[in-house]
Amino acid sequence: MALNDHGFPVISCGTGLSAWETRLSSAISALARASASGQLWLGLLVFGMAVARPAQAAGDPRCSRAERLARCAHPALTPARLGALARAARRPSHPLFLVDRARAIPADFPLARGSTWRSCRDPRPGALGDLVCLPVPRTNRFTALRRGAWDAARPRRSARTHDGLLVGHRGRIGFKAMLDAGLREGGVELFITSAFRPYAVQAAIFEDHVAREMAGGLDHGAAVAASATYSARPGHSEHQLGTTADLTYRAADGGLPGFGRFMAHQMRASKPMRWVRANAHRFGIVMTYRHDRVAATQYVWEPWHWRFVGVEAADAMVACDLSVAEYLEHLHRAARPPPFEHADRILRDDAAVTQPRRLIVARPGERVTARWWVTNLGSRNWSALVVRPVVVADALRDVPSEPRLDGCVPVFESTRLERTLVAPAAPGRHEVVWQLETGAGAALGELSMAVVVVRSDGQTR
Ligand SMILES: [Zn+2]
Repeated sequence: MALNDHGFPVISCGTGLSAWETRLSSAISALARASASGQLWLGLLVFGMAVARPAQAAGDPRCSRAERLARCAHPALTPARLGALARAARRPSHPLFLVDRARAIPADFPLARGSTWRSCRDPRPGALGDLVCLPVPRTNRFTALRRGAWDAARPRRSARTHDGLLVGHRGRIGFKAMLDAGLREGGVELFITSAFRPYAVQAAIFEDHVAREMAGGLDHGAAVAASATYSARPGHSEHQLGTTADLTYRAADGGLPGFGRFMAHQMRASKPMRWVRANAHRFGIVMTYRHDRVAATQYVWEPWHWRFVGVEAADAMVACDLSVAEYLEHLHRAARPPPFEHADRILRDDAAVTQPRRLIVARPGERVTARWWVTNLGSRNWSALVVRPVVVADALRDVPSEPRLDGCVPVFESTRLERTLVAPAAPGRHEVVWQLETGAGAALGELSMAVVVVRSDGQTR
């Protein structure tokens, strides 16, 4: 099976020009250019290289989101099952819980309230919760993963993944099964260098990055913003879930390469990490910070950072080329729509919202304008639109204007920075405009704007 440059199976969508036609067309123009300059031999070489270049369809813009999602359809995944999954994923204990720059994890998760994480060297009874301690290679340190992410029984329902490979290894999934299989199947030796981090550790790591950026000449606000592109703020790291691990590997010279932003290309090209990219989904594991999702995640590419989501989700995410956030959106779309009174549920099946989540960075005292277009597709009416900014830094102190939606009326304000607008039921394109202002003394305002469309189903509030 053909793989793209992430090691994922190529998905051909069959719209527009085929990959071969696209290559042929670019090769012909290259040939024409080179021939015009008298370098026919060079033109023929370019022509041959262009035609022979392998396709990269999963990252191919010709594959629309809808086309990729169409491949996710599975007869066992009924709307009721998808809805249950989407609801379950709101609990931080669920492997699909979404953590990003806007959404945080409870500070005491996964340990019970009142218990204190010490370390794997000093585990008091019960203090570890369901965390399993693992040695970090070449150090005297330990790291920890939640038991399910380290070693779990594979689900009975599916014996093979979408690409025909056997699920798991010896009836298990998770990082342990992947490390074992790497050695047995691929001859690659993989190691976990960092896994669970309690809130305080993530806070210390982030503060350390900020201090380094300031030592490099940035002021505090700029240092925070710069650090937040490659390190999660405390509360916002997948490492706090206990289901995420940073990996390294035994290199050809016997050493264990370090990792970091400057090692990404070397790591990607290595044999062990190529094996991981091609096989991780069989063990329920996916890469979070892909280089083709930097705009969406707002984090740099991290080829070492892998997350356990369960084999069913990982398989679908690879088959359909979806991130965790996109897969959750797919679940919400496919699930039975919630009734109107559950207005907190995100649903976008009847209205297309441009840039449904958008990060805005504002300087102190700056007025920012957030703007979206919402298109009511008209298949079913929707009646309310919740505009919900999530303030990452506590810098937005003033809301000088009400959000405005063409033809809509504000109906209530549930929090200081949240508005619900009644939208027209008629199909059509509507513009939302909302101006916000940061406090003059604020360091930096980061605003993740979420637009939540709520279906009416004929019910009234
Ligand atoms: Zn990581």
